[in-house]
Amino acid sequence: MFDYTAPADLLTGRVILITGAGDGIGRACALSCAAHGATVVLVGRTQSKLEEVYDAIEAAGHPQPALCPLNLETATEKDYEDLADQLFDTFGKLDGLVHNAAELGPRTLLDSVKPEAWMRVMQVNVNAPFLLTRAMMPLLRAADDASVQLLSSSVGRKGRAYWGPYAVSKFAVEGMMQVLADEQDGTSNIRVNSVNPGATRTPMRAKAYPNEQAEINPKPEEIMPVFLYLLGPDSKARNGEAFDAQ
Ligand code: NDP
Repeated sequence: MFDYTAPADLLTGRVILITGAGDGIGRACALSCAAHGATVVLVGRTQSKLEEVYDAIEAAGHPQPALCPLNLETATEKDYEDLADQLFDTFGKLDGLVHNAAELGPRTLLDSVKPEAWMRVMQVNVNAPFLLTRAMMPLLRAADDASVQLLSSSVGRKGRAYWGPYAVSKFAVEGMMQVLADEQDGTSNIRVNSVNPGATRTPMRAKAYPNEQAEINPKPEEIMPVFLYLLGPDSKARNGEAFDAQ
């Protein structure tokens, strides 16, 4: 596991947006960031799941989160601009942006993938992070020390048979990370990195490996050290790197 122990007040005063915050790794990330003092912006598709995370954060007495239901498959450029305007009016800045939500899509021979399925995976996993990052740049620039994290995968670093558009989309995610990171010169307040969570006990993992014993993989809460490290001030000098959570 990535070796980092976060101080309890690591993220105090920071505003952090997490996509796919209603389940799996995104949910754990939202809860963990809030527990370390951040105001989290919960973005996701299923409102009831976001509400459950919202209620858990409030009940624990952590900073009040913001709840922003958004389907990344259908969201338009205007939806992202409206979200940015709303966040600007409420917070005036964004200190962390975690592109976590993703679609697994079909796992089959590449030439058997239906074009609609290919487009859907690319829309959620690549186009949405691009559109969201683009809309959030002014807010990220308004923060003292902003961190952008893109969730990758081992199949986004080395291609593997039958992983279809998901694997290709994660290569694009690594590419987006590298290009954006390289555009931050020495004076930029923004750093951009990718994280491969490794096998983690979530609904997506269960879908990808239906015959696997879920207990062999760590829970999302257990892989949080790298996320906290990258979102807090201790990683200020790290930019353009591909991290592994495990
Ligand atoms: P899950 O499928 O368990 O959770 C993904 C979350 O993203 C869900 O809350 C889901 O919403 C949301 N989401 C999916 N599609 C959309 C959409 N169109 N619009 C808005 N929200 C959406 O995934 P994991 O937690 O397992 O994965 C998180 C990240 O980690 C992903 O990027 C994944 O590729 C990566 N990863 C995961 C690994 C693992 O072993 N778990 C291994 C390697 C990489 P809803 O709740 O409505 O379904």
